[in-house]
Amino acid sequence: MSLPSSQPVTEEPSIAELLAARPHLAMNAVDGLTLESVPLNAIADALGTPTWVYGAGTTRARYRALAAALTTAGLDADLHYAMKANDHLAILRVFAQEGSGADVVSAGEIRRALAAGIPPANIVFSGVGKSASDLHLALAHDIGQVNVESAEELEMLAAIAAGQNKTVRIALRVNPDVDAATHAKITTGRAGDKFGVPWGDAAALYARAAGLPGIQPVGLATHIGSQILSLAPFRAAYARIAALVTDLRSAGHAVTTVDCGGGLGIPYRDEPAFGPAGLAGALRSAFHNLDVRLKLEPGRWLVGPAGVLLASVVLNKQTGATRFIVLDAAMNDLIRPAMYDAWHGIVPIAAADAVAPTTSTDIVGPVCETGDTFARSRQLPSLRQNARVAILDAGAYGSVMSSTYNARPLAAEALVDGDRWAVIRDRQPVEALWQAERIPDFLA
Ligand SMILES: *Cc1c(COP(=O)(O)O)cnc(C)c1O
Repeated sequence: MSLPSSQPVTEEPSIAELLAARPHLAMNAVDGLTLESVPLNAIADALGTPTWVYGAGTTRARYRALAAALTTAGLDADLHYAMKANDHLAILRVFAQEGSGADVVSAGEIRRALAAGIPPANIVFSGVGKSASDLHLALAHDIGQVNVESAEELEMLAAIAAGQNKTVRIALRVNPDVDAATHAKITTGRAGDKFGVPWGDAAALYARAAGLPGIQPVGLATHIGSQILSLAPFRAAYARIAALVTDLRSAGHAVTTVDCGGGLGIPYRDEPAFGPAGLAGALRSAFHNLDVRLKLEPGRWLVGPAGVLLASVVLNKQTGATRFIVLDAAMNDLIRPAMYDAWHGIVPIAAADAVAPTTSTDIVGPVCETGDTFARSRQLPSLRQNARVAILDAGAYGSVMSSTYNARPLAAEALVDGDRWAVIRDRQPVEALWQAERIPDFLA
């Protein structure tokens, strides 16, 4: 949802505007905030807070919208959900049921994807530091494709393939040297970034791969970063990859697939965003006459808007001129504001709170770090103790990045699907935090 052009993008969307732009959320006069058809108060009553809640129906609808945009653009494409965004088994099962593959970045993610029912042939393995044991596991399960990020990895993979007497399909991940114009911590496609093979080295390495036993190079891959809200960097990267496909073919190599990565951004504060149709258009203009099968690896776009983090007000405090609302959720639960300076919408769950007069408020967690701040100078109603809020767009890079810092157990998780909901992870018992720890005898 884009703002009217007369309005500066620096202006924060109101609670009503945030909800209007998110059709899966609604404010019901009696039940308060609902996700799909479930009142979030019902979940918070049952599980307490902080609790993550995801919408299966919303996730499914987003997957279908993206797939439909690609089909409409006449593209032959496979979706591989980048599961690092949210790797809960139930979320993976929703994708498996849609026929989505997975983009994985570790052996643990391979195991999780398989446990959730994603067929090995639909798994693509990315990552700058795949270990020998990671690659052994990938080959043992015959996963669909390994995206190789260096000459060193290629040699290691060839040796492992020979050892297992297997042939592995690989794509070379190329660093196109494009600045994705996103947060510095999540841009991955500039020349100095650690990811991929330098643009200028790709052709030689592809030739090397084609000559190695056990290695079947099938194409190229790229991924220039995350939370990208402008099409220009995608267009620039895809143009370079398309040119490289042509060069490789002229040199006599087979190139049947291009993995275009993820990175599609979401409008956290209702910034203008191009959406699936825009991305499909950029893909089409770069690749439509190349006769390649495309892969996409979206993570955030599919699951981010579908999730919320429910929290309760611990207390209100006034410190000098600043009004603070202290929540029971903290940076250990959702680290994005502390790590990426991320903006998340915050909406009261009670209908009466949502329409009460607002004042400028800082919303913080209880952790002993100033960085444990969800929002500064946000227009919010004065919320009494125990009032609940939903932190929006928390479905991606939320629970997966949680820690137990300050001995805070991992929060509960619930999945809504239309008018049904279920607990999908129990709140971690506090004793579990030290269960694997030992006090050595010499301290007895
Ligand atoms: C993280 C990642 C993605 C997904 O990025 P999103 O911004 O969540 O879409 C895709 N591919 C690779 C290789 C990644 O590392």
